[in-house]
Amino acid sequence: MLIDTHCHLDAAEFDADRRQVIGHALEAGVQAIVIPAIERANFAVVRELAGQVAGGAYALGIHPLYVQRADDADLDALRDAIRQSLGDPRFVAIGEIGLDFFVPEIASGEPRARQERFYAAQLAMAAEFKLPVLLHVRKSQDILLKYLRRHERIGGIAHAFNGSAQQAQAFVEQGFALGLGGAMTYERALQIRRHATDVDLRHLVLETDAPDIPPAWLHPPRRRNRPGELARIAQVLAGLRGITPAQVAQATTANALRVLPRLSAAILADD
Ligand SMILES: [Zn+2]
Repeated sequence: MLIDTHCHLDAAEFDADRRQVIGHALEAGVQAIVIPAIERANFAVVRELAGQVAGGAYALGIHPLYVQRADDADLDALRDAIRQSLGDPRFVAIGEIGLDFFVPEIASGEPRARQERFYAAQLAMAAEFKLPVLLHVRKSQDILLKYLRRHERIGGIAHAFNGSAQQAQAFVEQGFALGLGGAMTYERALQIRRHATDVDLRHLVLETDAPDIPPAWLHPPRRRNRPGELARIAQVLAGLRGITPAQVAQATTANALRVLPRLSAAILADD
């Protein structure tokens, strides 16, 4: 069994053939898919979609790239949506939240302050409701950690992690697993590949970030990523570590269930 811990299955790229994409994932052994929200407008969408997918789960949050067009009322709406979802076994985390300092226009000044304010507010909700977080990490590792340390161990997944070994260790110490996906399949992704081989297997989970981050075999030309690519991504991780794909599947599934404690109930919700 494989778990795609990060897939934007509600994205417009899947509108034409979402059923087939889900079927393809199931055939590939992907038995759970976590669908993060990105803004208020898709809270209800991810909740509904997760309910239609075998092993579907969702997270609620405001993505750092959507913070500039969000307002404080959206944080209130998030809190309400969280409250309404606490009884739903498919609701597993706060996300996708975080900080993006890669995009220059929002990496300094007022836009950056706004990102940090929304991140801090959503972390506080995670702490209040005792929920893990799905973190968007882009050139922001140390600041993300600075805010995390203000709380008692929140934990979750550092999605598409690409930082130093020291930063990887710091996230692990905060109760996080590192999300590895399509980026790991490129031979030139040396730092990510080092995490894939050097980080204790207990701290790794698999993800596709579909439709984004297409693995090497879908590129070029740039093509849409799908949750069903996770099986081959797992094979790449197995190859890099010199273990079997079955060992990767078993370990990463156990890790995902550990860092997202509610996910077991989401998977059982179908039985
Ligand atoms: Zn994402």
